[in-house]
Amino acid sequence: MSDEETRTIFFASSRPCTIARWWSKETVAIVTGANKGIGFELVKRLAELGLTVVLTARDDGRGLEAVRALKGEGLDVHFFCLDVSNSNSIKTFASWFQHTFGVLDILINNAAVSFNDLRENSVKHAETVIRTNFYGPKLLTEALLPLFRCSPFGSRVLNISSRLGMINKLENHKLKEILKDEENLSENQIEGMLNLFLQSVKNGTWKSYGWPQHWTDYSVSKLALNSYSKILAKQYKGNGISVNCFCPGFTQTSMTGGKGMHTADAVADVGAWLALLPMEKLQTGKFYVLESHNHSNHSKL
Ligand code: NDP
Repeated sequence: MSDEETRTIFFASSRPCTIARWWSKETVAIVTGANKGIGFELVKRLAELGLTVVLTARDDGRGLEAVRALKGEGLDVHFFCLDVSNSNSIKTFASWFQHTFGVLDILINNAAVSFNDLRENSVKHAETVIRTNFYGPKLLTEALLPLFRCSPFGSRVLNISSRLGMINKLENHKLKEILKDEENLSENQIEGMLNLFLQSVKNGTWKSYGWPQHWTDYSVSKLALNSYSKILAKQYKGNGISVNCFCPGFTQTSMTGGKGMHTADAVADVGAWLALLPMEKLQTGKFYVLESHNHSNHSKL
């Protein structure tokens, strides 16, 4: 997404409890990759706020363990196994979801992988990273699109993304121009970019192509996710579904080896707040960035 589309959020005013409650137990939310980290905390927060929440995880054991932990805190959530990198798993999940719930209000595409330590930049697992972080949310969203309720309160897709995938991280001018041209940008162009990236990884030229320099495969996957979100947002604008991205900032989870400026719990407060914005504040096609320090003491949303 281009820089002018970003919205900065500060911690202080970003709590769901500051929003007049429009949702009920009938409001259904799905969170992917929710057995730990930010996803787990998002499920917890949404369940505490009284929504019906489906916790998904790629591993049955880890997913059920997370559900047990929430049960221990008096929270009842639903569980289904979902590996977003596997199209059959997506199909099975979508069919179970349709059969069990029928309609969906909120989809939070949270699941993602990175195989690098903080200072590493290997692209050894580039294919898995692209398949999980880009094609996962894309294929899952497409499978669930027909099920969105599109009520007067609005249906929502929130893609948990990263500022590492902002267009300004690209040094390749031609690609930058293509991605910035939101009027004409197509899914084919995004997928073309990904094929080009994977090809440059295969033939060993990726370092000289102007891809983002930090966590390159992960950044390219999020770059693609951000761009796809813009296309989807445009497509569904005025049709009851908002599509936004949210970068939680450097957060203490497994992905960062436990390092970070803030906890997953604190991030979930803000993520849930974004997912639950009331209609008059709900936008689409935006990229929300969480800042760790609140110098101005108010949200710039
Ligand atoms: P974690 O590594 O703690 O959690 C990632 C989750 O995704 C895990 O539950 C993991 O499951 C799951 N997952 C991985 N692959 C798949 C798959 N194929 N199908 C289903 N689930 C899968 O990371 P975070 O909580 O930090 O990450 C959450 C989101 O936040 C991600 O989208 C990440 O890119 C984003 N983000 C995180 C930042 C940070 O600083 N932590 C910064 C910016 C963005 P399993 O336990 O089985 O591996």
